[in-house]
Amino acid sequence: MRPRDESLHESMVRRGMSRRAFLQFTAAMAAALALPMSYAPRIATAITTSPRIPVIWLRGQGCGGETRALLQAPNPTTAELLLELVSVEYHEALMARSGASAEEARRHAQEIAPGSYIAIVEGAVPTGDNGVYCTVGGRAFSEVVREVCGGALATIAVGSCAVDGGAPAAAGGTTGSDGVGAIVSDATLVNLPGCPVNVVNLTATIVHYLTFKAAPATDARHRPLFAYGNLLHNQCERRAHFEFGEFAMTWGDEGAQRGWCLYKLGCKGPENFSNCPTERYAEGASWPVAAGHGCIGCTSPASWDAMGPAYDRLPGPLPFAPQVTADQLGLALVGGVAAATVLHGGASAIRLRRWAAEERRASAPAAADSEAEEGGP
Ligand code: SF4
Repeated sequence: MRPRDESLHESMVRRGMSRRAFLQFTAAMAAALALPMSYAPRIATAITTSPRIPVIWLRGQGCGGETRALLQAPNPTTAELLLELVSVEYHEALMARSGASAEEARRHAQEIAPGSYIAIVEGAVPTGDNGVYCTVGGRAFSEVVREVCGGALATIAVGSCAVDGGAPAAAGGTTGSDGVGAIVSDATLVNLPGCPVNVVNLTATIVHYLTFKAAPATDARHRPLFAYGNLLHNQCERRAHFEFGEFAMTWGDEGAQRGWCLYKLGCKGPENFSNCPTERYAEGASWPVAAGHGCIGCTSPASWDAMGPAYDRLPGPLPFAPQVTADQLGLALVGGVAAATVLHGGASAIRLRRWAAEERRASAPAAADSEAEEGGP
């Protein structure tokens, strides 16, 4: 983390980052935010001139995957630049202080920047038994989350555990865990689900704040549209194989080795919304489907229950006929509509012929009468 009075440019030079690398970063941010490349200079100006945003990073009931995702990328990294963009005032795993001293640092950060810091929350929030399953500084984590997020400019929930409870909230869980949104209902909330979150999406969200002084547009679940607005399946590099009916049928078979579609091995890409195929992980190195593993749907709501088991296709859309797939149901509906159209057309033709016959019958006596009047005896 850079000293408080050091500019971003000075920090970049100190780290050996070239101007070209920085401009590549701003272009990558424009692309991640689904903005035209013409926005890259505006982003560059914003992040070199804006004051660093104080950040309080809370860690609850989770595996720490978000922090690992932040720190384990290669150099020069999006993660490093993220740490340059913000001033991390509190992060249990990154700060030198610990115990009561660390808690004092958090309280101090809240007091010197009330309403102007960003709260980032990683991990679920247990509420069972008065929150005893996760405590920080002797207090229930839920209490700390309410206090910190309640006074923040905005709250970013990173990773599926923080978004909706994730694995700790899955069926069988005993800790009453939930997401940040359920704990602090009045927070300005941005949800970044994923297991773990893609650090590019976190960085792009903060860059959006710096550039436009506002949170990115989100869906009804507070997920930024730039990251979660498109179906993963529609962006997947194996999609052409899906269209051609080329599927891997078992792990390691010829289809798997040739990079065919993983749908029949349980890939949840057709049901999951995320930018994993375009942003990938580890600085764009790869993502699960590229590595040969189907999408497990980790950015979907309640994914551990709704998207499991990982290696089975989702049950059919008809609870009374689970063997019927969505594809079969769709084909049946299309067939049904086509049949109904044909039947409707046939019925209309019969009705028209009947009306015409009735018309002829109705007009026939009158014609006979007029013929009788004109030519009759
Ligand atoms: S591998 Fe998954 S996401 Fe990719 S095309 Fe097949 S079903 Fe869709």
